[in-house]
Amino acid sequence: MNDSNTVLFRCTECDHTTTDVASLHAHCEKHRGYTRFGIQIPFTRTSAGDFNALMEYTDVLRVEDTTKISLKDIDRLTDESGGEDE
Ligand SMILES: [Zn+2]
Repeated sequence: MNDSNTVLFRCTECDHTTTDVASLHAHCEKHRGYTRFGIQIPFTRTSAGDFNALMEYTDVLRVEDTTKISLKDIDRLTDESGGEDE
């Protein structure tokens, strides 16, 4: 069953992926040099003017298929060192 209404947002700089575009853009601010004082500035409505610039850092991925998986599978997915061996 397709679930084409579900999208993911991925950072083009480091492949950080989230379902929340606002939090992804907050993340992308780090790549744009806004943390030069060592402070992470949260994404707010006042920075909405940068939306297009932030989208340059954003890949929008449509979720074509969803599969129910077990907690064991989540462990495997989050362990990038293991590879795809069965
Ligand atoms: Zn990133």
